[in-house]
Parts: sequence; structure tokens; C-alpha cells
Amino acid sequence: MLITPTKALGIILEQVRPLKALRLPLSQATGHCLAEDIRSDRDQPAADRSAMDGFAVRSTDLSSCPRQLRLAGEVAAGSPARPRVRPGTCVRVLTGANVPPGADAVVIVEQTKESDSGVMFSRPVKVGANIRKRGEEAKNRTVLLKKGALLGAVQIGLCATVGKAQPKVYARPRVTVLCTGEELRPVSDRVGRHELRDSNGPSLTAALALWGYQGVTHKVVPDDPKALAAKLKRAVNQHDVVILSGGVSVGKYDFVPQAIKLTGGRIRFHGVAMRPGKPELYATVGRNKHIFGLPGNPLSVMTGFYEFVLPALRRMSGLDLKLCQPCLRLPLAADAQALPKLVRFVVAKLVSNKKGLSLMPIKSHGSGDLISGGTADGVIVLPGKAGKISAGTVVAFRPWRPLP
Ligand code: AMP
Ligand code: MG
Repeated sequence: MLITPTKALGIILEQVRPLKALRLPLSQATGHCLAEDIRSDRDQPAADRSAMDGFAVRSTDLSSCPRQLRLAGEVAAGSPARPRVRPGTCVRVLTGANVPPGADAVVIVEQTKESDSGVMFSRPVKVGANIRKRGEEAKNRTVLLKKGALLGAVQIGLCATVGKAQPKVYARPRVTVLCTGEELRPVSDRVGRHELRDSNGPSLTAALALWGYQGVTHKVVPDDPKALAAKLKRAVNQHDVVILSGGVSVGKYDFVPQAIKLTGGRIRFHGVAMRPGKPELYATVGRNKHIFGLPGNPLSVMTGFYEFVLPALRRMSGLDLKLCQPCLRLPLAADAQALPKLVRFVVAKLVSNKKGLSLMPIKSHGSGDLISGGTADGVIVLPGKAGKISAGTVVAFRPWRPLP
């Protein structure tokens, strides 16, 4: 019995759990999800600060202009100096400097004229002008980043701002890739006409690296149930997730289901109403170890990876359930044909015109046609209901290039 891709993902997401939390230095935390809320350790900004280079003044002094004020001192960014701004005086301030006591506004340097006798101001200034008020961005103890937030560049900067040198983050899953098939040769080998180079191994590890799972190894294993079971057992012992390519269908040499059973794995589903990727398989071993069996054709492998494996990895990495499977909704740039009863994934590229981005389906000779995927940015997801879907219709698009 085939299940829908949505049901299949639901089964997977019921099984996967976020991994343990650990503390990592900021330099190693990029791409991890927070396992704690990050709070401000003081008001942000911590004091009234000048937003510009200029002069701190008492706004009442400039109620009738032009007016010259005596220069009574200077506060540069990082200076602890607090020269008081008394009536009839001003203080030079640089961007980021604390506003000196007595002042209630900053006039930007471009609107002034400095001479030996003082600083000339040509127009009045509003109270608070060019001042970032203490606490206006966040008060002390405010939650700035929530548990589960993915740490990108800005978030790492925020952690640094509030003194979080070692944020608590979720571990990322240990993953490995096993490619089954007697016909496969490593990329640098000569290949006979009866053989082909393993492209799924390199392409899966590349997809993993693109989404932040670097350094994953891949191996080719022969189509032999015992040898496969032995390799799988070792892989499961040492990793949280094992991705298998090939050997998952009903052919005489498709030994993956058998090997999973020999390894003590529990098959949760085998067969999804989708094209490509129908023989898709998912199994669990013990608590929170997962095996994905992806049918070997290169576009099936990529589709299965983005539909099932990546959401599982992202959930295990601590990402919120709703964010595990990135999806965009964009209009079709040309007609597309949906299939009866099978959700169809069509490789597509993003094209831009005056109205913005749209999706151009790419002609493909089927799931073995990696060449047609060469210009793809992802896949269009077409519901399992036969019929033409016209150009201009907004459809779901699964990016095969990283999004947050
Ligand atoms: P399978 O799912 O094992 O029946 O494989 C289906 C087809 O996918 C095979 O006939 C190969 O042409 C292709 N294939 C399987 N594994 C790989 C791989 N690692 N790299 C490239 N092509 C593969
Ligand atoms: Mg095979």
C-alpha cells in the first residue's frame, strides 16, 4: 500500500527527536539551532548614544537660530568622558559615543560650521534627534533569540553582542551514505559499458554540506544481503542517520529491506505515492536512529533527500517542526502536467521577469536523467490528480539550494 508523501513525512517527524544539547564556542556554532533562549545582558543600547557624528546640544539653546555655541569638550565612541553640556555650550560627539549629560539632541556635523570661536547652528533641532535611547532596541533580560533559532551570521553577532561566548545548541546528527549497486565504480575509476560512476554518493554528501552537514562520508557496497547487513550494522552503530541509495525496489538484487531487518531495523514505510521515488523506504533502529532507503536513480535520490531526509535531519538538529521542510510558492512559467494518484516532482529552474520569479519546468527523460537536473534549482510539487496545470498558477516549489 502506497502512502502519500505528506503521510510519509508525518511518520518520519513522529519518530525523529532533537538530539542532545551541548555548549559550543561561537566560532563553531554557525548552522546549529539554539537549545536555550538568548536574553539581553543589559539594555540595548546600554546608554543614550549618538547615532551620528555631530554636536550634542540642549535643544532649547537652538530655539532661535542662527546661534553660536561654545565647544566644551568631546566624546568619541568608546570614551568614558562625561563633559556636561551647560546652557550656551555644545560637545562634539562621534557615532556610537555616549550622549553627554545635559544634552537632549545631536545636530549632525554637516549642518554646522565650526570656527575658533565656537560652532554655528543654522536651524533648531528636535528633542531626541539623532540619539539612540538607552534600551530602545531591547531592555535588559529581553529574549532576543528563541530556543530553536537557527544560528546564521546575524544571530551569531547577536550572541556576541550579549556576551554569549558559548551558546547552548543542539548537536547535529552524525550521517553517513551507503550506495548499493554492483554496477557502481568510484568517480576516478575507469568504467566499462556495463558500469557507471557512483554519482549519488558525491551528490548526497554535497547536498548535506550545502545545508550545513559537512564532512559526511560515502561508500559503495555490493548487492549482497549479508555484506550489506554487516556494513549497515556498523554504519548504524556509528551514526544517527544512514542514507542508502539503490537496492530498495522489488528487483532480484534489491536487498536493502532484507539487510535492514537483519540489522534489527523496523521498517516504518516502504512505498510512497510519488514520482520519482516510489519505492522509498524509512526504518528506525532503537531510539532516534534512522535509515532512509532511497531508490537509486539520481533524481529519485535527490527528491527523496529533500522530501524526507533533510526535514528529518533539520528536526534532529532542533529546528521547529514547521520549518523543517523549506517550501516556496511561486507561479509556473509554463504549463505542467500532473499525474493521477502520484504526487509528481518536476525539476525546475527559477526564472525572473518583470513580475518577479517564476518556475520553468525542465524536460526530463525520467528519474535516471541527472543531466536534466543540471540546471535545476529545485522541484515543482504537483498534486496527485491528473490534469494540466496552466502557466501562471501558483504552485509549491521545493528549493534544492539552501534557504534558512
Ligand atoms: P536501484 O534503485 O538499485 O534499482 O538503482 C536504479 C538505477 O539507479 C540503477 O540502475 C543505476 O542506473 C542508478 N544508480 C543506482 N545507484 C547509483 C549511484 N550511486 N550513482 C549513480 N547512479 C546510480
Ligand atoms: Mg541497484
